[in-house]
Amino acid sequence: MTDQLTATTQRSARDADLDYEVIVIGAGVAGIYQIKRLTDMGVRATVLDGNADLGGTWYKNRYPGARFDSESYTYGYSWSQELLDEWHWTEQFSPQPETLRYLNFVADKFDLRQYMQFECLVEAMRFDESTDTWTLHLGDGRELTTRFVMMGVGLLSVPTLPTIEGMDDFEGQWFHPFDWPAEPLDLTGKKVAIIGTGATSIQIIPEVAKEAAQLTVFQRRANWAAPLNNAPITDEEMADIRRRYDEIFEACAITPGGFEHAPDRRGFYNVSAEERFELWDRLYDGPGFGIWLQNFVEIFTNEEANAEFSGYIADRIRQRIDDPEVAEKLIPKDHGFGIQRVPLETKYYEAYNQDNVTLIDASDAQIVRVTARGIETTAGHHDFDIIVYATGFDAFTGAYDRIDIQGVEGQRLRSKWADGPITYLGLMVHGFPNLAMIPGPQCAVTNFPRAVETAIDWITPVLEHTWEQGHTRFEATEEAEQGWFHDVVESYKPFLLRTAKSWITGYNSNLEGHEYGKTRYNLYNWGGPKYTKTLREIEANDYDGIAFS
Ligand code: NAP
Repeated sequence: MTDQLTATTQRSARDADLDYEVIVIGAGVAGIYQIKRLTDMGVRATVLDGNADLGGTWYKNRYPGARFDSESYTYGYSWSQELLDEWHWTEQFSPQPETLRYLNFVADKFDLRQYMQFECLVEAMRFDESTDTWTLHLGDGRELTTRFVMMGVGLLSVPTLPTIEGMDDFEGQWFHPFDWPAEPLDLTGKKVAIIGTGATSIQIIPEVAKEAAQLTVFQRRANWAAPLNNAPITDEEMADIRRRYDEIFEACAITPGGFEHAPDRRGFYNVSAEERFELWDRLYDGPGFGIWLQNFVEIFTNEEANAEFSGYIADRIRQRIDDPEVAEKLIPKDHGFGIQRVPLETKYYEAYNQDNVTLIDASDAQIVRVTARGIETTAGHHDFDIIVYATGFDAFTGAYDRIDIQGVEGQRLRSKWADGPITYLGLMVHGFPNLAMIPGPQCAVTNFPRAVETAIDWITPVLEHTWEQGHTRFEATEEAEQGWFHDVVESYKPFLLRTAKSWITGYNSNLEGHEYGKTRYNLYNWGGPKYTKTLREIEANDYDGIAFS
């Protein structure tokens, strides 16, 4: 601690000319924890966020039905006993307003808001090799200098809209769910269209169906989904959760996905079909990602095992939908269950049993253009008051690409990543010194706050190490980065997810260069425990792969 303080004092003297020692970009789940760590150490730091307030994804995604797919108590921060003791989650899977309240509660409790600057969009940043510092150019015209930049910009934070002829001609309201109006939107008597059937849409549809006069869902490709099975958390249950927090976080640390759900390792073919069905019945009727992550490992790697399980889910879907033709359209035929990120739903399939809900599958009619009054398809015109484009995100690299980031010798990050990300540990990039992602593409994407804490708990000591050794620069070596990239590519090979037509492989039909088949290696798929073990080994090995100077 004394050493730390000495280093801090020296640092302040050395860098008095800089606006900040560390700038954190993004006041979401990652930025909030990062600024807490830094200011606890007495580091001169600030958080910049383009939004009007904190919360990141939970500030933006205000659409009806937005809620955790993670058990609430596994999503909260683990680093403050006081916080764990004080906060009461009211639902197993917290809805967006409660999560936003939680993040505000954390910021206020630890007085972190004083370090945050809102409506501060970072447009460009340049690394100066003569001083080992970054200069950030903000939308408001300011320039800020700093030694280190921590990017907490999110992995799904840049929405993508389709490019359909006539979108601007529409005279009703239209938006992406990420930009769902903050003021309450009265859907009573409204004709609503929703385009897309991803996790976002699957949360929205049952909610809009409750209110709107008519809801029309435009589906290009069916998506597997499974019940969330949410429930309230009583005072007694919360007291029990509080007692078990250590156990809960320990369990999250040893499962591949960072949840309490651990895979069934009995072996798909070592048990009878009856036993498999017994497990699936239990998981389908149980909460959260159990049906995906507590399953046999083979469903992720073996096509036959996956097909048998997908058949089981298809039958469960059929049981929930009155019209067999609609049911068949909602059951994916082009990929198996769990190869893409599984959306969790609450009465999603039952929504299609309502008279006011219509499914238009691309096999029946395709969107031709948007008109002033609605949507014209190959089978006719539909009038709408509201069109929701739930068409996904420029995942993983989008939030980095929209900042003009120039590293050593003026190299642009967006050029380096033109064909997909390449990183060291999902935390740093060769050629971009003193920049850390908390975390970024190619980290082990687990239950997100668990991944955030892993990243910040590891990278903050890298900063301390830099200060303590009297250095002014850290940078991933090219060799280490290549090694990590190789490991990430290998981590796709055993898993059926390598065929996913989704952000997992970088597919997005609304973005050039994101065509299916041009795989972008966005994820490290060997799981959280292996990832954490690697980080520990690197740390113990004097931060192998990082050059300090
Ligand atoms: P998504 O999974 O990428 O889904 C986008 C949907 O829009 C797909 O059905 C896609 O069809 C369709 N689409 C895209 N462009 C289209 C076009 N031009 N014309 C017609 N259809 C088009 O996006 P998302 O639903 O926003 O979910 C993204 C991720 O966010 C999720 O996988 C999840 O990780 C995260 N998320 C998390 C939560 C949570 O934790 N509770 C909730 C929501 C989202 P195709 O399949 O044919 O491409």
